[in-house]
Amino acid sequence: MPYHHIDVRGNEILLPVNKVVCVGRNYLDHIQEMNSSVSEMPLLFMKPKAAMCNMRDKITVPTDKGECHNELEVAVLLKSSLKNASEEEVKAAIWGVGLGLDLTLREIQADLKKQGQPWERAKSFDNSAPLSGFVPLNVVEDLDDLHFSLTINDEIRQSGHTELMLYKIVPLIAHMSSVFTLDSGDVILTGTPKGVGKLTPSDTVIASLENHLTVHTEVVAE
Ligand code: ZN
Repeated sequence: MPYHHIDVRGNEILLPVNKVVCVGRNYLDHIQEMNSSVSEMPLLFMKPKAAMCNMRDKITVPTDKGECHNELEVAVLLKSSLKNASEEEVKAAIWGVGLGLDLTLREIQADLKKQGQPWERAKSFDNSAPLSGFVPLNVVEDLDDLHFSLTINDEIRQSGHTELMLYKIVPLIAHMSSVFTLDSGDVILTGTPKGVGKLTPSDTVIASLENHLTVHTEVVAE
């Protein structure tokens, strides 16, 4: 089924499906669990259109490429384009927020890091960005005061809060727009807190953003 953006009620949002722009190392507790260092500038990478899929459909993970890890992140859907944007312009361009998984082939990523290569082979494969429905921005009071969590097989694996981001959502998107143009229908994934780990076919998954949305889903083999 081709992906389209949906709202929390499951209705299609009439925006194009474009790229996914991601930031790495945006939460100190995740930087520590990975033994990584804090970046001087936001660490940016992208996922193509084919990475996007609906989180409510099952989460498809490759099983022949080493461990595939969960990274639950707050996702931001843009409704208009941004280039060298001010923070006011960013706020005006946000359709709403939801949740996304930045699925990561961790062993491949470790090899790429060792070789000094970019991360797309580990992070940008088809269906590597399962997305929830989106909550309109006017329903969310404060983007920097959002709790989100991921439960796998009835155990909480990730519990994050946007207040703890090193680069907060609006200035982060403004910065991204100074590097390349962001477009209507782009999705921004804003980084993962600690608690990344292996996803295994038949795992049950619950992803929640405050009381705005909860997705119940399941992991299946590709
Ligand atoms: Zn991530």
